[in-house]
Amino acid sequence: MRRPDRAPRRGRRRRRAGGRNRRRGRDRPRRPRGAAGERDVDGGGGVSRDGRGRPDRSGLLLAGGRSTRFGEPDKALAELAGAPLLCHTAAGLAPTVDELVVNCRADQREAFAAALDGLDDRLSVRFAVDPVPDEGPVSGLLTGLRVTRGQHVAVAGCDQPFLRTATVADLFAHATAEGVGDRDADAWSPAGAAPLVDDRPQPLGAVYRQDRAREAAVRTIAAGSQALRDVLARVDPVTVPVARGAVRDIDTRNDLSDVSTIQIENDVDNGDRMNVTDESAMHTADRPATSAVPLPDGEGSNGASGAAPAGRADGRWVLMPHEKEGIKADCYGDEVREKLLEFAERGWESIPEDEREEWFTRFKFWGVFHQRTGQESYFMLRLTGTDGILEPGQFRALAEVADEYADGPVENPEFGNAWLDLTTRQSVQLHWIKLEDVPDIWEKLEGAGLSTRSAGGDTMRNITGNPTAGKDAREVIDTKPILEEVQATVRDDDALANMPRKFNISVSGIPDGSAQDAINDIGLEPATKAVAGEAELGFNVRVGGGLGGHEPRVARPLDVWVPPERGVDLVRGFVELYHDEGNRTNRNKNRARFFVDERGPADIREQLQAEYVDWELETAGEDCRESYTYNAGHGDGEDAPDGPVDYVGVHEQHDGRYFVGLNVPVGRLPADDARTLADLAAAYGSGEVRLTRRQNPLVMDIPEGDLAEFLQEPLLEAYSPEPTVFERGGMACTGTEFCSLALAETKARQARMIRWLDANVDLPDDVDTITMHFSGCTADCGHANTADIGLLGMRGRKDGEMVEALDIGVGGGMGEDPAFVDWVRQRVPADEVPGALANLLGAFAAHREDGQSFREWVDATGTEAITELVEPEETDYVDPALHDAKQSWYPFDDGDSPAPTAPDDTPLSADD
Ligand code: SF4
Repeated sequence: MRRPDRAPRRGRRRRRAGGRNRRRGRDRPRRPRGAAGERDVDGGGGVSRDGRGRPDRSGLLLAGGRSTRFGEPDKALAELAGAPLLCHTAAGLAPTVDELVVNCRADQREAFAAALDGLDDRLSVRFAVDPVPDEGPVSGLLTGLRVTRGQHVAVAGCDQPFLRTATVADLFAHATAEGVGDRDADAWSPAGAAPLVDDRPQPLGAVYRQDRAREAAVRTIAAGSQALRDVLARVDPVTVPVARGAVRDIDTRNDLSDVSTIQIENDVDNGDRMNVTDESAMHTADRPATSAVPLPDGEGSNGASGAAPAGRADGRWVLMPHEKEGIKADCYGDEVREKLLEFAERGWESIPEDEREEWFTRFKFWGVFHQRTGQESYFMLRLTGTDGILEPGQFRALAEVADEYADGPVENPEFGNAWLDLTTRQSVQLHWIKLEDVPDIWEKLEGAGLSTRSAGGDTMRNITGNPTAGKDAREVIDTKPILEEVQATVRDDDALANMPRKFNISVSGIPDGSAQDAINDIGLEPATKAVAGEAELGFNVRVGGGLGGHEPRVARPLDVWVPPERGVDLVRGFVELYHDEGNRTNRNKNRARFFVDERGPADIREQLQAEYVDWELETAGEDCRESYTYNAGHGDGEDAPDGPVDYVGVHEQHDGRYFVGLNVPVGRLPADDARTLADLAAAYGSGEVRLTRRQNPLVMDIPEGDLAEFLQEPLLEAYSPEPTVFERGGMACTGTEFCSLALAETKARQARMIRWLDANVDLPDDVDTITMHFSGCTADCGHANTADIGLLGMRGRKDGEMVEALDIGVGGGMGEDPAFVDWVRQRVPADEVPGALANLLGAFAAHREDGQSFREWVDATGTEAITELVEPEETDYVDPALHDAKQSWYPFDDGDSPAPTAPDDTPLSADD
């Protein structure tokens, strides 16, 4: 197999000018709906033809197999998101072809014709019935090819519902391009183009030259084979790497239920639950659209909760923009503020009931998030900023607001009342806020120079980076001014407020990887580049990283280096590109990481150069991050690279003063303690407090002579700069306490587990940290994927009863070699998790080599052996919310206020 030297350009201009198929579709007279939806084998008419009266491109759906692994009824008619699989695949092919041929058995034909009726008015749909049923896929292929009339044929299985129109269009482009590949002859053109997945060319979802495929099928059958791969080998097409999952097929009912399972693809604030419905993105028009499941007229949606409605455009089925795009189009960004203030003045109940979800969606842009069911009159408030930097006085202002306004109706048994939650993006969240109080709170926060604008919703979020920017002794570029400019000129630009989805930016000028560009939509990390013979400092750029929704991605290098003075413009360029062309139809697949999957870094770079930046982009420079310490999965042991792993502890600044990183277990800091901390920061340092991505505060600018006294302050007993191994490594998201997406209680549970593990697990002295990150659902706001031990909220059964349960993953970490955890145990009842971890960690302590980090030990031991070691076990640990399921200790609609109980329903105290 050969890969083309260079893919035919799929740039924005070309699409804007209108593709070949698109023009054909528009120019052709449209047939009344249903008039030519189905044709017999020898039917015809109404299709685009070449000079000899033949259609250019055919689609061939193979649907005649018995699908024994799937069972009855016919797999092709099995429903996914309200439409038969056959229709999903047909809709993916339809916009790229002039006729559609379905290979099937005689007994399937009538039902298939009914299912496909109305697919696309312009498209001829014909059937190629197997003369002898069940002979095998190659015979079915040959039967179909004999009926197709196009010079090129896209061949797909009826069970490939995620086949993307964009993918097929790209394959057509490669299959019909002349002079590509490694042959010399100018006139040579490929025999087809096959999708390449994991370095394996795929026979289905491929585009073939009709004559070559037909000949290959004949030869394959003659050789006694019914393997489509043998046909593929004989055709010898070029191969084209495609996005993971784009050609995925459904073999069994389990496969179908897997892809039908509710996926959660949001962060802490978002309230979307989306069914997997349609992943077949296409670019047939000026804007990205998504091919759709054909539905009978009158049905406005494809049957999936929150999914975009199907509709027709130019005679073809497309998904219309997601309903949230309509909500945002009506009112979004800065204009939301005035409306929010109006509602606040009249009380939250003044929001008309049928408009509440819309307004709650919009409020997020201003950092105001409706809390979960049962807490209807309360909101969460999130701060925005850059780098987690809180100027003198700002942390105190936050503490005072928390004390006055973040007061819940019932005390949390673990944390009491009125606290600040420090987040994994260097921000702060306050809970139990009343909408009526928001104007006062804004006045106080904004008076201190703080803002909540752009803290949530589909927009650029809190900008992250090195938390010690401008003060770190190891810094090679001071990124504070750059980040401030990104905030002022890019994130605060109302014209860019309405992004397709949330968008994360990180910039760091320190060689420890603390900006975590690997999990941001765009990340800039320091790098040197020889420019005009001189080594200059600037940034390498990565795009498309992120966690969540079972589909985390490590960011991909863009092969771009920018000098510091161009960093803001480069960020702006990518933000604008995603703003302009990101997917606004399918919220399951529209984070920037999928945009990067779809386009590929090389195309994105090319488009940035052509349309979004006005200087010549340099190729990537040499990375400065030689140490990669931050969250890298190693301790401070002898062999570990230099640098703090998490900023906890005492560290010297470049000006000779010190910053002290305190450890706040699971990131929750009561308002009283926050006020004390603000006072200490002012008394010993400059008053500045900074926040890290590990949910911890740093007290900045302490003179050396005052350090000893500061370290004796009583507050530091609770928030120690020398925490225990598990305190130091623990992080947790919000969980069921407030988050409507959560499947498990997180913070109180994690706090108790930490105490239990500290008391019950002995680790070697040189192990300073075991990172243990806990997320209440797959959105993974708690960064479970990047920890030594990742915990993910689930539900499971124990003794026949539904209980909160956790998935356990191991071996994740950022740093030089970013990796996500392997999920080694599923649905472990929550009360058996500490026992499982103790068993695992006991084995680590017993068997690790000297200096070996947990992550290294996991790698060396292997997933299979680790799975055995993570043996769930009941211990004397008692879980605070084992049977709470969706409840916590706060009042609910029905007036219940379930206290945390033991499995026998005995109430638990907070600190058992
Ligand atoms: S449960 Fe946690 S991970 Fe899931 S959306 Fe809520 S805060 Fe995010």
